[in-house]
Amino acid sequence: MPEQFQPHDLADRRNASFLPAEVPVFTFVLVKLASRCNINCTYCYWFRDADVYKKPAVLSVESEVAFCQRLEEHIRAHELECFMLVFHGGEPLLFPKHRFIDFQKRLDAIQQRTGCQIERGVTTNAILIDPAWCDIFKRYEIAVSVSVDGPPDIHDATRIDFKGKGTHADTVRGITVLRHAGLEPGLISVCNPATDPQRVLAYVVDELGFKRFDILPPDATHADNPPPIADYFIKLFDVWYDTYAKRGVRISTLDAMIQGLVGNMAMSDTIGLGPIDTVTLMTDGSLEPLDVLRIIGDGSTSSNSNVRQNSLQDVQADPRWRGAFEASTSLCDTCRACEYLDSCGGGHLAQRWSKERGFDNPSVYCDSWKRIFDHIWARIAPTLIVDVEKTGRSGATKHIDRAAAP
Ligand code: SF4
Repeated sequence: MPEQFQPHDLADRRNASFLPAEVPVFTFVLVKLASRCNINCTYCYWFRDADVYKKPAVLSVESEVAFCQRLEEHIRAHELECFMLVFHGGEPLLFPKHRFIDFQKRLDAIQQRTGCQIERGVTTNAILIDPAWCDIFKRYEIAVSVSVDGPPDIHDATRIDFKGKGTHADTVRGITVLRHAGLEPGLISVCNPATDPQRVLAYVVDELGFKRFDILPPDATHADNPPPIADYFIKLFDVWYDTYAKRGVRISTLDAMIQGLVGNMAMSDTIGLGPIDTVTLMTDGSLEPLDVLRIIGDGSTSSNSNVRQNSLQDVQADPRWRGAFEASTSLCDTCRACEYLDSCGGGHLAQRWSKERGFDNPSVYCDSWKRIFDHIWARIAPTLIVDVEKTGRSGATKHIDRAAAP
């Protein structure tokens, strides 16, 4: 029988022990092919830490070879059947093509020797994409994700080159080259809360033709005092829910919010409970925690681990990596008592950071997230079908069977 379900009920599970205390075996590495970029986005987290300039401009040959050796050892030691690498930067396509091909050959050889499938992706601004890159991506089955913030005026306000010129036209040209080669990229946008999300959706879906993508809040900590994102995401949700969802359009962060609100795991970097166990390979071979934590400032992610001396799994003992992992699983008291804990998870780890209390804070977007969750809940609650089960001594436990498809 349908029954009113309150998000507050989820708070009953706020102390649930599904967050692992132990570090899992790594199955993903973010590989920094370049520590420099060919453009100069105004909101970029990467160059807020001057330490990146001390690293080689591109992944050194020695570090690449050592990484491949460590990766094969890791796969064998843990008998892994699948591993994921995402090539990243800076701008990863600053890495020379011939070296990229050599790297892929090494990875293919590991794949053949171990039987482990090494999945690969690249995140790029698409400006350097040409037919030769497309051939490489096709030959080595590399998934491509492109950063586009919306129509030209919105994109060009923030994604600029070193002369201050917008990069929209060059990025769209790169997408066109990919599609001419038969490659369909993914898309990631960073929202500008001062703009109209309806225009972004109309452009991304109706003009560029993307149906599955993500729109993210700008990276920020409590030291940045960023503008609220509530009005933007509320309108984004409404426009998507009322118009685009029924056309099969999916926006990952909105999907994650809904999943969290109906009692499932919100699988998203932006929001959601869960340990942050990302390992980042830097261009000098060092192994660091989640790269976005670099937004905190100089040297904030620097570690003592390097693939030339350490196994991949060794990074778990590094104080910086360990600190980030433990911070991701130890929420502040405010979040632990929050009705939206399961959906929000305290927000992105970097967005929790303040000079005074480290990561022991709610998200800098907390007030916005609460308004957004309130709004989404009000809109989806009438569409939910609830099944009531009796469990244990505590009596009835509510389970959401499904949310009616929007
Ligand atoms: S950041 Fe705010 S909305 Fe998110 S869990 Fe913490 S208190 Fe709740």
